[in-house]
Amino acid sequence: MIHKSPVMRKCISCRTTFDRNNLLKITKDHNLGIMLNEGMGRSAYICKSKKCFTDPKLKKKLQKALKAILNPEIIDIFAREIANYK
Ligand SMILES: [Zn+2]
Repeated sequence: MIHKSPVMRKCISCRTTFDRNNLLKITKDHNLGIMLNEGMGRSAYICKSKKCFTDPKLKKKLQKALKAILNPEIIDIFAREIANYK
């Protein structure tokens, strides 16, 4: 049997549930630290809308969701990634 139902996850900013494929995944990998769309560990999801990405509280929400301190580099990588989606 083919399992077709999409995996649904909630955006940490707008709290809307989306198909996981339409979300960016930010993971706190046990060994490698914060990663985008890869890694194993505690994860947070954000939808690819400009509104959510430009949420001034995004960094805080991410840090809370991941229980980690995000350095500015991660936010930059994230910003570049998001720039590809418009
Ligand atoms: Zn969102």
